[in-house]
Amino acid sequence: MDGLMMRIPLSVPELIRHADRCHGDTEVVSRTIEGPIHRYTYREAHRRARRLARALLRRKVGRGERIGTLAWNGYRHFELYYSVSGIGAVVHTINPRLFADQLAYIVNHADDQLVFFDLSFTTLVEKLAPRCPGVAAWVAMTDAAHRPAATLPNLVCYEDLLAAEDDDYEWPDLDETSACALCYTSGTTGNPRGVLYSHRSTVLHALTTCLPDVLNLGAQSVVLPIVPMFHVNAWGLPYAAPLVGAKLVLPGAALDGKSLYALFEDEGVTHSAGVPTVWLGMIDYLKANGLRFSTFRETIIGGSACPPAMMRTLREDFGVDVKHGWGMTETSPIATAGVLKRKHAKVAEVDRTAIREKQGRPLFGVEMKIVDADGRELPHDGTRPGNVLVRGSWVATGYFRGEGGDVLASGGWFPTGDVGTVDPDQYLQITDRSKDVIKSGGEWISSIELENIAFSHPEVTEAAVIGLPHPKWDERPLLIAVRKAGSTLDRNALLAWFDGRTARWWIPDDVVFVDELPHTATGKLSKRTLRERFRDHRWPASTRTAEEAADARADQPRDMRA
Ligand code: AMP
Repeated sequence: MDGLMMRIPLSVPELIRHADRCHGDTEVVSRTIEGPIHRYTYREAHRRARRLARALLRRKVGRGERIGTLAWNGYRHFELYYSVSGIGAVVHTINPRLFADQLAYIVNHADDQLVFFDLSFTTLVEKLAPRCPGVAAWVAMTDAAHRPAATLPNLVCYEDLLAAEDDDYEWPDLDETSACALCYTSGTTGNPRGVLYSHRSTVLHALTTCLPDVLNLGAQSVVLPIVPMFHVNAWGLPYAAPLVGAKLVLPGAALDGKSLYALFEDEGVTHSAGVPTVWLGMIDYLKANGLRFSTFRETIIGGSACPPAMMRTLREDFGVDVKHGWGMTETSPIATAGVLKRKHAKVAEVDRTAIREKQGRPLFGVEMKIVDADGRELPHDGTRPGNVLVRGSWVATGYFRGEGGDVLASGGWFPTGDVGTVDPDQYLQITDRSKDVIKSGGEWISSIELENIAFSHPEVTEAAVIGLPHPKWDERPLLIAVRKAGSTLDRNALLAWFDGRTARWWIPDDVVFVDELPHTATGKLSKRTLRERFRDHRWPASTRTAEEAADARADQPRDMRA
């Protein structure tokens, strides 16, 4: 028997329509590429999104067609999110930090009809245009006064497109399972693959992530997504903020500590979201200048493991409550968030901290399990790590144009490629990417745990641990660290820091200091680059610590020492 309830499709334009109706005077503030701060309201954003929708239709953009964007977090990008999806087309956010070859591949693979770009990417677009003949027009996201002097075919200015239209437009009815957005994720091998979000998955993700145990957003919040709108839709914040009527602050291209701090203070930011590396810059700036936040009180950090020392600094020194989140492009991205339960009020602070440091428990709408190498399910005992599989309403079933073939495991589970433990309360703790796991004597060593220990050393600013071949143990961990400016920390002192902080046989066999670590286009440590760079690293043969390390490895359980 059917229920007697209305069946109104979940759709992206409904979010901005709602924000216009119920939060029409709430502000969207952007730091522009041209320079000044731009501010307007959800009502005005909605009006301009409808004008842009008419401009797209005038250019014959059809349902399901892809429209590319190469842009920072700003109000025109925000309008594109709604106008492109709102007419039933697909907004394809392109990560400008990728290599030119990958960018050309992505634009052509997506078959983008138009590409909208921020002025800072003009040179990039000039190089790209000859390699992307299918793009009918390149739209500079600016006004005529700032039109770039570029030699681009079919160059159009965003504001000229809008000026030719009025806002007399109603969003059409859309099938909630139809596609609204596309984002490519770069795998370790092969070409980048497109994750194609639907209206339904996007709205459900936005609804759930606003909940108190996730982003904790409401109409009193002021939210600044540091995570770029070209990386998994800024973790859904441009959808979540209008859903609840939160003021939205978009930082543009200025992601350094000083510029961000100014915006946090000037706009009264209360909530944020970003990867650990951006918080490094922010913390350094605050410490160097003896500053505190006046309004900022909570943030979600994810995208890579948030080091516990960073969480502690933000909480204890700056009064910011950090929620550790985990997810991936294929999971829209937020799948888990690390927030305590009521019963944890009774446990010791040290245990509460340990729970918060895990990647968190699944949101409603996401299920999770861990399996061994043969696909057998492992217990959720918080100790045995396994391959993490997820399933849920905002988890991908495959990639755009069938790239990679059937990716789902039996039962419709998505294999994440991450390795972790799950405890009886369902808190996930990621120990590694499966390809980064270090196998020593047949057992796994968690590179993330070792990196966290290194990072907790007061003279280390960043650290990566990779596994390198070892004649006896298959692989052993090598620590690659960046020292704070002026530090004289040496190898032995850093290795001594691990004593008592982890199992003796996990302690890295060697340390290399570098000036900086390589990162991927999404801000993660590029371990592939490090493995290539240190491929020929020679393990120390005769130092005292090498002997100690060998001695320590004798602690490995007997069956692992064969
Ligand atoms: P992406 O699709 O680029 O967002 O990358 C997703 C991957 O980032 C995941 O599969 C994890 O390997 C990693 N990741 C995301 N969040 C976390 C986290 N909180 N801790 C550890 N790894 C994470």
